[in-house]
Amino acid sequence: MNGVACPCGSGRVLEACCGRFHAGAAVPDAESLMRSRYSAYVLGLEDYLLATWHPDTRPAALGLDATPRPQWLGLAVKTHTPQDETHATVEFIARYKLNGRAFRLHETSRFERVGGRWLYVDGEIRE
Ligand SMILES: [Zn+2]
Repeated sequence: MNGVACPCGSGRVLEACCGRFHAGAAVPDAESLMRSRYSAYVLGLEDYLLATWHPDTRPAALGLDATPRPQWLGLAVKTHTPQDETHATVEFIARYKLNGRAFRLHETSRFERVGGRWLYVDGEIRE
């Protein structure tokens, strides 16, 4: 088998990494969810992004088709900090290009496990 490399940068093929979560497999922890959501941004999987967003903070739509579309260049997960059984934070840096300019998104995201499923709650942008 010769699959596509997963966009999250794990070094594994997409089907063996984030792709199985996009296909509905249970996500084991907040870092895996964060990675699969980054990959979903790269792949334009708006349904997956909305489905893994906490209902309290979920937007109605993401408008991923709006132009100009960012070109995602890579993800680096800095820390994954479980707080308790149902809460965790993940600090990451995602790089992208927009209109030919390079940007760097450094964020600490909060995740909550609701009914056994990890969900993205919100994030704090860091410098
Ligand atoms: Zn992945």
